[in-house]
Amino acid sequence: MKLYKIKKSKIDKNGLYANQNIKKGTKIIEYKGKIISVKQSETNPKFDNGKAIYLFNINKKYDLDGDFKFNTARLINHSCEPNCEVFGSGLKIWVYAMKNIKKDEELSYDYGFNYDDDYKAYPCKCGTKNCAGYIVRQGSRWRIKKKRK
Ligand SMILES: [Zn+2]
Repeated sequence: MKLYKIKKSKIDKNGLYANQNIKKGTKIIEYKGKIISVKQSETNPKFDNGKAIYLFNINKKYDLDGDFKFNTARLINHSCEPNCEVFGSGLKIWVYAMKNIKKDEELSYDYGFNYDDDYKAYPCKCGTKNCAGYIVRQGSRWRIKKKRK
């Protein structure tokens, strides 16, 4: 049985939801895509906006472009209090549960966007208590909070 299902999301468009209780540390879904060289991703205008949502770095030489319909994991939304994290193992990238997840909870991870001038173009609708209002990686969220005061 699959650990996830696609459902209309409370955060944005479609999302992935836990199909059963999932224990912390479980591999939930592979983040599939095409492996491209870092050089390709640096020169391809497709990734020019600096917020390459579906682009993951694998190692010094290779990135993974997950911007394809067959990559179901790309439906996972960003949250400021995520329950999943994404990391690589060899040349593959997996979405792991970073805490125990209850059946029917929406899966989410931190998109890890850098803080820069256009952060306002990426509002966050995760609705968690500590939502920064924008999709910015956790280490940079204090900058937004500081600005709001
Ligand atoms: Zn948020």
